[in-house]
Amino acid sequence: MRKTIFFDRDGTLIIDKVYLNDPDQITYLPGVFEALRELQNEGYQFVIVTNQSGVARGIVSLENLDEIHRRIAAAFAEHGIKFAKFYSAPYSVESNHHWRKPNPGMLEAAHQDLGGVDFANSWMVGDRMSDVEAGRRAGCRTVLLAGVETPADSSFAAPTIFAPDLLTATREMIKIDRSR
Ligand SMILES: [Mg+2]
Repeated sequence: MRKTIFFDRDGTLIIDKVYLNDPDQITYLPGVFEALRELQNEGYQFVIVTNQSGVARGIVSLENLDEIHRRIAAAFAEHGIKFAKFYSAPYSVESNHHWRKPNPGMLEAAHQDLGGVDFANSWMVGDRMSDVEAGRRAGCRTVLLAGVETPADSSFAAPTIFAPDLLTATREMIKIDRSR
């Protein structure tokens, strides 16, 4: 059972371009490489879980989605950072598919595929309350990054941490872990 950090992709690790389909348009958010290096040093494995309803809408191609994830993996690898796996939910908003956040299907799939996730000692990090809720449903602690939503915008339960950016969140996550 590995402690794991599940990361949302758009608005969390890269700028949310809304239905990103062009691998040349990937733009990393400030501090992401430093943040993930610090968290990797704490012994976490990393998984990306991203809703991609643009695929269902025909705006994002699966081929480009794969290429975008290859490039993201390569960019982080240049900083010595490894992702155990990428999961995408290419389903429509209306589908309420179990893989689509706020449902926890992608996190549960990681538990199956990666030989067990220690959810109670894991985190889900995202910029929307649907990320927080997916993490909560899987049994993780949660982080909401400020930007598009606040906990008050949502009927879902509040995150463990609400932080202005990923580096600040990282330091708070590490502080909480070390105080356990
Ligand atoms: Mg997002």
